[in-house]
Amino acid sequence: MKVLLFSGGVESTALAWSYRPDRLAFVDYGQIPAAGERRSAVFLADRLGLPLDQIAADISALGAGDMVARAAASHSKVAEAWPFRNQFLITLAAMRYAGNDLEEIMIGTVATDAVHADGTPTFLSRIQDLLQCELPSLQVTAPAIAIDTLTLVKQSSVPRDLLGWTFSCHRATVACGNCRGCNKTIQLFSELPNE
Ligand SMILES: [Zn+2]
Repeated sequence: MKVLLFSGGVESTALAWSYRPDRLAFVDYGQIPAAGERRSAVFLADRLGLPLDQIAADISALGAGDMVARAAASHSKVAEAWPFRNQFLITLAAMRYAGNDLEEIMIGTVATDAVHADGTPTFLSRIQDLLQCELPSLQVTAPAIAIDTLTLVKQSSVPRDLLGWTFSCHRATVACGNCRGCNKTIQLFSELPNE
């Protein structure tokens, strides 16, 4: 089974369109924008015709940065950074699907995510090594890790009307228009060719 961590954002929607994994996994880990992400994820999964599983594991008490309306952790340089978040989310997916012939966990990391320690090729390689201690053939992949979001969107040919339903805000359940997530999406739409 191939699973894509699916937040309802631009990157995971483009990957879902291109790769059509067996399952999409949405995680509510206590992030403030969870309700907005879920709304988009449910709608987009339906439009994509792909099955969506929802996983809930509230770790908001352990979060930092924009997504829990707290100051950034002392070692973080980026407003939305949540220490160890991606390894937590990938581990949750591994737990959820370990008994279902899990072959691959795909994540929507893009090149610009390298500002985060858990958005780098080194992280990807090491988390795969770690998970393979228990599931030796499990692959952890990030097909867009070497390209930016605009390139991913263009290469995937994901329809623009589908992208209009994505949700990327870090601070609220309705797009705030002023966080790094919203600003990246506004920038992306301004760079996409008009159809
Ligand atoms: Zn926002």
